[in-house]
Amino acid sequence: MSHRPRKRFGQNFLHDQGTIRRILQAIDPRPGQHLVEIGPGQGAITGGLLQAAGQLDAVELDRDLIPLLQRRFAAAGELRLHSGDALRFDFCSLRDGDERLRIVGNLPYNISTPLLFHLLDQADCVEDMHFLLQREVVERMAAGPGSKTYGRLSVMLQARCRVEPLFAIGAGAFRPAPKVESAFVRLQPKRRDAPRIDRPEWFGELVTHAFSQRRKTLRNSLRELVTAEQLEAAGVDPKLRAERLSVADFVHLANTTCNRSATT
Ligand code: SAM
Repeated sequence: MSHRPRKRFGQNFLHDQGTIRRILQAIDPRPGQHLVEIGPGQGAITGGLLQAAGQLDAVELDRDLIPLLQRRFAAAGELRLHSGDALRFDFCSLRDGDERLRIVGNLPYNISTPLLFHLLDQADCVEDMHFLLQREVVERMAAGPGSKTYGRLSVMLQARCRVEPLFAIGAGAFRPAPKVESAFVRLQPKRRDAPRIDRPEWFGELVTHAFSQRRKTLRNSLRELVTAEQLEAAGVDPKLRAERLSVADFVHLANTTCNRSATT
């Protein structure tokens, strides 16, 4: 198959067979499961997914890859290719009844954060997600309070999902080799154990503000949104920085202040 990797689509194709096997083992696709691959590229993991599950939806932005994929997997199972942008794709529309999707992908690094947020909005339709991402992004996703990498991405994801970094992958597993290290991560949307977030937009706004100037105290970084008294009433010391608050603290703070606009 001849396709010159395109930088603008973030194309770093996996070629190391050991890494591909390890990824497939971690996903553990089973017959009948509804898997969706984002960015199948030339099909490095597509074949293994199709073979195990018997069917697969895949969303690919690079139109030139669609006929190549169709030809390569013509006899391999039911591959439903969607030519388009995963950032705008309605994943929930693929569901049959109330089944939950298993989403996987070696994601283009340039869109990984907006794509994670787009998928979070659809987390109710999702059983789990497995992604190959820049290692530094996976570290930020999984970081806990007090760590330098703990920030907006950690809080927003961990409020909705269990984040489980699985293993690191060196640049040599890809062609062309990226300049950064990669890591494979599993995300499982929380169900019964999810904290109740009364107003998700307000929660997102608070978290974004709190970390937008992470060296400032919460009293200052959240000045436009809540008063020091409201912070204290929620049990949060206004002199702390955002990185000291746990995910549960942020949820509690958002829930106890979410009627603010109604009262001011
Ligand atoms: N899965 C293949 C592999 O592991 O070799 C390709 C991975 S490559 C890092 C990322 C893939 O995502 C490319 O095929 C690229 O064309 C595709 N892609 C880039 N942006 C996309 C988007 N917004 N929506 C869907 N696919 C996208």
